[in-house]
Amino acid sequence: MSRVHIIGGGLAGLSAAVELAAQAQVCVYESGPACGGRARSFYDRSLDAIIDNGNHLLLSANSLTFRYLDLIGSRHTLIGPGKPIFPFFDLSKHRGWTLRLSGGRIPFWVLPGGRRVPGMKLRELSALLKIVRSKSDKTVASCLGNGPFSQKLLEPFAVSALNTDIQTGSARLLGNIVQKSLALGGKACIPFFPEIGLSETFVDPAISYLERYHAQIHYGTRVTALHQDKGRITSITTSGGEVAVEEGDHVILAVTAPVAKNLLPDIPAPDEFESIANAHFRLPTEINARGVVQKARFIGLVGGVSEWLFLKGNVLSVTVSAANRYTERDSSEMLATIWSEIRRALDPVLPSPLPVAVPPARLLREKRATFAATPAQDAKRPSATEAQSALGIANLSLAGDWTQTQFPSTIEGAIQSGLVAVSAAGFRSRVSVT
Ligand SMILES: Cc1cc2nc3c(=O)[nH]c(=O)nc-3n(C[C@H](O)[C@H](O)[C@H](O)COP(=O)(O)OP(=O)(O)OC[C@H]3O[C@@H](n4cnc5c(N)ncnc54)[C@H](O)[C@@H]3O)c2cc1C
Repeated sequence: MSRVHIIGGGLAGLSAAVELAAQAQVCVYESGPACGGRARSFYDRSLDAIIDNGNHLLLSANSLTFRYLDLIGSRHTLIGPGKPIFPFFDLSKHRGWTLRLSGGRIPFWVLPGGRRVPGMKLRELSALLKIVRSKSDKTVASCLGNGPFSQKLLEPFAVSALNTDIQTGSARLLGNIVQKSLALGGKACIPFFPEIGLSETFVDPAISYLERYHAQIHYGTRVTALHQDKGRITSITTSGGEVAVEEGDHVILAVTAPVAKNLLPDIPAPDEFESIANAHFRLPTEINARGVVQKARFIGLVGGVSEWLFLKGNVLSVTVSAANRYTERDSSEMLATIWSEIRRALDPVLPSPLPVAVPPARLLREKRATFAATPAQDAKRPSATEAQSALGIANLSLAGDWTQTQFPSTIEGAIQSGLVAVSAAGFRSRVSVT
């Protein structure tokens, strides 16, 4: 049986490993103490709770992600409202509303009747068409209008989907997401998130699956060099020693863009990044809200710093995307601001108000959460076969959310990239190289 060496145990590497487990001897080299990369959870001693490095929201449209979860048997660990509903709260106007998408492709939800963004006009839908039809050099801002549909829905959706501000964010990448979600109707837009944590949903079950196939997973093993001879990788230098890559073996490089660029200086790769900040607050008891907020267990927030608020038992977690703009802001001041926004959004739907004082809290900043999803950075993304076609290295394929997936940095993109890399390595895969 031939061996496939997978460098990097994030979701791209795990997706490749799971796809290959029954077809090849799989060896994963992960520099960290655990797999998961930018989608992981951990026990935080100061909060005495399991928290994610960052809240992740999935949509039912993410079909490759759901297929991955079905393979590893963990779809049931996701929760969500079970319907395409999105409660929102405008912090500047102190007003809440709920977007209730209609199930099919015909968007009945845009008609008057309490399911759409308050005050929106039908003609504002033209912004969506502009986004879907935009050329690769267009920014999101150049497609948006001034009305509530653009300001209160498309803009926050764009910032969180691209993790990049609308002035520089790529309309084409956003358009690709819209085509695979909103344009397919509400059935494709049912939101989900892990009930316990990202590792419990995406990582631990994948490791158990891989162990059943006797895959080798080398934790704490950093790859520092790839050696080539006569158009193929012949050995890998790791912090644990030298690994021979035998004739017939393949290598999948599934590390982050900067690490890939270090190992293979001649490949193109994005080189600008955006951060995401996540604030976690632990309360003495579980939070039970009323109505649609309790059903959804999250709220989209506009008009403040906070963007998505998740209710996870006795932990309240807030996501702040495109957070490079807040780099200079002191963490305790950020926490105080976010806590006051949580109170404003949640108090109206709680049986009793939240405490005024900031409870035990943690602010996590992922400095290089995603590549900056601008047209210029998108143009720098290599294909899975770039090392084969441009560098002439026959037994090396690339994976990672930063490779050319047609999506911004997302779980779906990472999982798809792992599948494409498997196909590029000459094995059976759900997604083939295009
Ligand atoms: C805070 C945050 C919030 C997010 N929210 C969402 C969301 O709501 N929805 C969504 O779809 N996506 C979201 N994303 C994006 C998503 O997490 C990523 O797209 C995805 O996890 C990337 O997976 P990857 O495998 O491509 O990269 P990574 O997860 O970065 O994996 C790379 C792996 O390689 C390892 N590695 C690095 N160097 C070496 C080396 N030299 N040797 C061996 N191993 C090495 C790393 O330790 C890591 O495990 C979010 C990301 C962040 C950070």
